[in-house]
Amino acid sequence: MKRFLLSPVLIAIIPCTLYAQTGADGSTIIAGDQLKPSSFSTVRMEGRVGQIIDSCIQNGVMAVDYGLYSLPFRDKTDKGGMFRGEFWGKWFTSAVLATAYQPVPKHHEILKKSITELMATQETDGRISSYPRDEDFVNWDIWGRKYALLGLVAYYDLTGDKNALKAARRATDALIDIAGPGKQKLTETGLQVLGSMSSTSVLEPVVLVYLRTGDKKYLDFAKYMVSLWSEPNAYTDKGMRLIEDALAGVPPIKISSPKAYEIMSCYEGLCELYRATGDARYLDAVVSFAESLIAREIMIVGSGSSSELWCDGAFRQTELLEQPMETCVTTTWMKFCYQLLRLTGDPKWADQLETTLYNALAGSMNNTGDWWAYFSPLAGERMPSPMQVPQCQSSCCVANGPRGLLTTPGWSVMTGNDGPVINLYAPGTWDLITPQGKAVQLVQHTTYPVDDHIEISVHQKKPARYTISLRIPSWSKQHEIHINGESVSSSPGEYVRITRDWKEGDRISLKLDLRGRVVQSPGNVNNLAVMRGPIVLALDSRLVENADYNLWLLPEHIVWTHADDFGGLDYVLHEPISTGEEEVYIELKPAASKPDDVWMAYEVPFLYRHTHFFEHTRKSLLMCDYASAGNDYSTENLFRVWIPQPLYMNDIFPENTWKILYRGEQRPEFPDTRKESSRENPWDRSESKYN
Ligand SMILES: [Zn+2]
Repeated sequence: MKRFLLSPVLIAIIPCTLYAQTGADGSTIIAGDQLKPSSFSTVRMEGRVGQIIDSCIQNGVMAVDYGLYSLPFRDKTDKGGMFRGEFWGKWFTSAVLATAYQPVPKHHEILKKSITELMATQETDGRISSYPRDEDFVNWDIWGRKYALLGLVAYYDLTGDKNALKAARRATDALIDIAGPGKQKLTETGLQVLGSMSSTSVLEPVVLVYLRTGDKKYLDFAKYMVSLWSEPNAYTDKGMRLIEDALAGVPPIKISSPKAYEIMSCYEGLCELYRATGDARYLDAVVSFAESLIAREIMIVGSGSSSELWCDGAFRQTELLEQPMETCVTTTWMKFCYQLLRLTGDPKWADQLETTLYNALAGSMNNTGDWWAYFSPLAGERMPSPMQVPQCQSSCCVANGPRGLLTTPGWSVMTGNDGPVINLYAPGTWDLITPQGKAVQLVQHTTYPVDDHIEISVHQKKPARYTISLRIPSWSKQHEIHINGESVSSSPGEYVRITRDWKEGDRISLKLDLRGRVVQSPGNVNNLAVMRGPIVLALDSRLVENADYNLWLLPEHIVWTHADDFGGLDYVLHEPISTGEEEVYIELKPAASKPDDVWMAYEVPFLYRHTHFFEHTRKSLLMCDYASAGNDYSTENLFRVWIPQPLYMNDIFPENTWKILYRGEQRPEFPDTRKESSRENPWDRSESKYN
């Protein structure tokens, strides 16, 4: 499997400087990353994750009609309150990630053409907006400018093109001209119902421009914007209080406006401001906010929101929520966790990323990677996102989904101060640099999370002493690690750090705990779900049939009693409802057969009680991974994650739930324009196409 070993010289000339650590004067980063992202171009992911990424890039990101996205900036078509200005930057930043990962000339040409089109819309004073000048600040004006800025900075990071950075500077200057101190306060612009977060989330690219130019006026403007969060304004007497309320542990639903991905976008900007200032209060606030999200909002599959708003979803997730888990929220949650993983080096953020990647995010992309869901439920049916903005042939979520997915090469394997840090177990190859500046290649051989066994081989020219850190997921209570056959001890929820003289051909063997786990809902003790490693399982109407009886999940610890009455009775008495503190395991057996589009399916044991203590028997139901559940995207293909105890088998799946996902008359279908393009089915490929 050893395919190539990049020399340090070669790595040094790779033009990808995504997430540059230093600005022009080398001094703008005060608080550096604990873990640095991999250089995307030296990562090759295969297997399931590699296939999802490849299909998203080839059939989605790089196949869209991107020429449509710069037109709103040229023609100012957002007059009157539209948000077409977000599409260029959402798409372009994902296209930059795609190109960083697959730096082929065709991708570079697309980027070049598109950024040229965008830069041609820059006005003489530097303004880049999809709104006419007399509608500065109206509704989504600053929101669209933010995405344009993010795209310009991303292009500079990828290519070093100074014109892109210059355009970003000029666009930021134009913003300071109208929104700097003494001018219009950004906290009193944009949609009042969103508490101006759509405007003030421009903090992120403003700090990025500072980090890359070292020009203090951008840092001053960023700090000024953040100071406005703490001031009363025309929209709210108490101010936005994004820092104060996050530090105080106020539930996310009660902080400023509960618009889920806009508020996370503001905190992403605060992460950058922490890098630029080292002010620990900023980091404490973002960590505290993210922990509140895990406690109160993030659902079992790794996303949250109802109708785009926080909703105390961790407690409400067993109910049929309206418009649950917007894909924009899923993507932004991933990006936010990626920031926190970089800044803190705490593996709990990688645990979150893995769960979201395999479940909420993979479940919201269609099978061919060219379209996404707007909302993703935990019960009912999947529905394609409507063509929200026909002029851009897209929707907020279709443009945004790839931005979360395409972070994966960056966090899969990172680099700490003492060596490589493996966060994601997936087949592939990572070329890295040791702390001594030497090239090392890590190759993962595994089908994880289908199989529990991961082999990692180390390739380098000369032996060198450094540390390889391996993430042991918090759910992996039993695991084994061997280095060249020698056992190493470790604990769940931590990195196991292995410091030694690594040499060519060393092998790390890892076995994680993929026992089935029964998970209790935080908000409804009578609802249980089944997980296997990072994978959430679901019942799917293609795999189970209706019947007129009840079933109960049958975990391993359940005791059968035998009585000699009536010729011999085997029965199970009711158990006390679990407190949820102890891990509960359940036997899972791989299904003998499953539909082609289903990735993983297991026989799960259930208890059937015919009556009283008579005829208690064990039955099996098939469950599949959440991302595969419902992936026919039809009203007939129904699924559910949470299993009420007992489950009435004639009423397993709620029907017609598209009506609570979409308010229109007709259920949206996948758009024809994209179906007509030449699409390939990524599931037909056994290996990553790009090489
Ligand atoms: Zn969206």
